[in-house]
Formats: sequence, structure tokens, C-alpha cells
Amino acid sequence: HAKRIGKSNYQFYSESMHNKIPGNIELESLLRKAIKQNEFSLYYQPQIDPVTNDIYGAEALIRWENKELGLISPGEFIPLAEESGLIVPIGEWVMDEACRQNKEWQDKGYKPFRISINLSLRQFYQSDLVKKLEQVITKYQLDPQYLELEITESMAMDANTASTILHDLKKIGVHIAMDDFGTGYSSLNNLKKFPIDHLKIDQSFIRDMTTDADDRDIVSTIIMLAHNLNMKTIAEGVETKEQAEFLHSIKCDALQGYYYCRPLPAKDFLDYLTEHS
Ligand code: C2E
Ligand code: MG
Ligand code: MG
Ligand code: MG
Repeated sequence: HAKRIGKSNYQFYSESMHNKIPGNIELESLLRKAIKQNEFSLYYQPQIDPVTNDIYGAEALIRWENKELGLISPGEFIPLAEESGLIVPIGEWVMDEACRQNKEWQDKGYKPFRISINLSLRQFYQSDLVKKLEQVITKYQLDPQYLELEITESMAMDANTASTILHDLKKIGVHIAMDDFGTGYSSLNNLKKFPIDHLKIDQSFIRDMTTDADDRDIVSTIIMLAHNLNMKTIAEGVETKEQAEFLHSIKCDALQGYYYCRPLPAKDFLDYLTEHS
């Protein structure tokens, strides 16, 4: 099963996973039930401003916990949810829950910060995406600047359509991040055209940065490019002190990774907030 789950996720999730992973058809029907039975939750991973060490923002990451299967990684079920269309109701739940949670923390008196959610391809191209977002923001009376939507380069393949959608999203006041930057094929022309607030530098570049001079150069160049185009940068997968210090020295705006904190369930994230404010 290691092959199906993907090498990087395997170690992390295997402990809580039972031996038999069902085939896609069964998984899809379990996924359908999961929506009705509320088996999803959001974990939150902080992003840190390396200058002040304050919380810069947080990324919401979905988790699925099924009684029989245990904890199932998004790497395993998001592609299937995308294929089957189930990602649409799941994505709407993510949107709602992230906004609800953020508002709850703000109401408790914590200093407001932005929460980002990951959009899937199908969600991004849903014609009522903007309307749905507006409804959720209104429902919770959330200041839209505290919500960020993460898209990937491959979702923006149809550059003209993507540009229109992104501009419509910006009009309602949410922020946009380009996730896994550097692994896809963004043209510089798109970067210039799209209203992007954050480039998230893919973790593959961060991983080898301290041993590979090319990766160091790539990361510094991405940061300079972003700043020249008036965007900010977030490094993903920061695992060591050296990586954090190097990224700080080359003016990366925010750092996210196990070095600071793993993704945490809401309850534990609140403890983290209490300790860090
Ligand atoms: P992503 O958006 O690029 O999220 C970052 C992934 O890196 C997360 O994996 C996170 O747990 C992991 N990570 C964070 N820090 C480190 C680190 O220091 N080292 C390493 N090796 N990994 C780190 P996760 O939570 O398993 O999510 C995987 C992917 O699933 C996400 O990649 C995203 O593409 C997708 N995903 C997660 N939640 C959602 C969601 O609500 N909706 C959609 N459509 N996709 C989601
Ligand atoms: Mg992401
Ligand atoms: Mg990413
Ligand atoms: Mg990724």
C-alpha cells in the first residue's frame, strides 16, 4: 500500500491506518457517508514571521477520520474526491469551517490572523465560487482579508479564465496564494497578470537548500522575483533551524513547517495561540 499512499505520507499516517485500504469504489462510498456523518476536521499549521516571530497566518489542512480506516491523508482522498465531484461539498465544508473557526478565535480576543484554505481545480472553476464565499463571509461576519485561497499553478492553465476568476475573488477582499510554487509551469506573464498576494515556495526547494547551492539560488531568486512583483513569500516545509535562518536572511516573509509546528487540531492550535500571544 505504500505505493498508493505515496512515500512521504506513508510513514506519517501508517500508524493509525489499518491493513486493508479499500478500492476506489468503496472509498468513494465511504467518502459520501463521511460528508453526512461529519468525519472531517481541519488541522491548522501556523506560518511564522521570521523577523518578529509572531504568527503571520495559518493554513487549514483537512483530515478524514473513519472508524474502520483510521486517519486518511488528504493525499489519498482529495484526488478521488476531485474525480467524483465530492470535492465540491467537501470544499464548501472546509470554507465554512475555516471561517467559522477564525471568527470564533477572533471573538475570543486573539489577535486576528489570516487562515488559508486549499482550493481544488473543480472548486476553482465552479461558477458559484464567489457567491458561496460571499455567503460564508457574511454568515460569520468575517473580515475577508482574514481568508486566503490557495490555488496551484496547474489550476491556472487556462490563464484568461483563471485571471478573471482571481480578479473576481479579489473584489470580495480575500487574499490569494499560489501554492507549491516552482513545481508547475506558471509563465511569468501569468504571474504578472494574476492578482496574487503570496507565493508559497514548494517544500522540495526548501528541503535541499542547505546542501544544494542551486536550490538556494532558486529560492533566493523566487523571493526577489516575488518582491519585485509586489507579492510576499511563504516557505513550505521548513524543518530545520538552518533553513529558517537562511530564509530569514534572504527576506522570506513567512515560514511554515515542522521546525515551528506540525498541523494541529483546533483545540491544540488554540493552546499554541495562547502560548504565542
Ligand atoms: P499543501 O497545501 O502543499 O500543504 C502542505 C503539506 O505539507 C501538508 O500536508 C502539511 O502537513 C505538510 N507539511 C507541513 N510542514 C511540513 C514539513 O515541515 N515537512 C513536510 N515534509 N511536510 C510538511 P497534508 O496536510 O498531508 O496535505 C497534503 C495536500 O493535500 C496539501 O498540500 C493540499 O494540496 C491537499 N489538501 C489539504 N487540505 C485540503 C483541503 O481542505 N482541500 C483541498 N482541496 N486540498 C487539501
Ligand atoms: Mg496549501
Ligand atoms: Mg504546498
Ligand atoms: Mg503540496
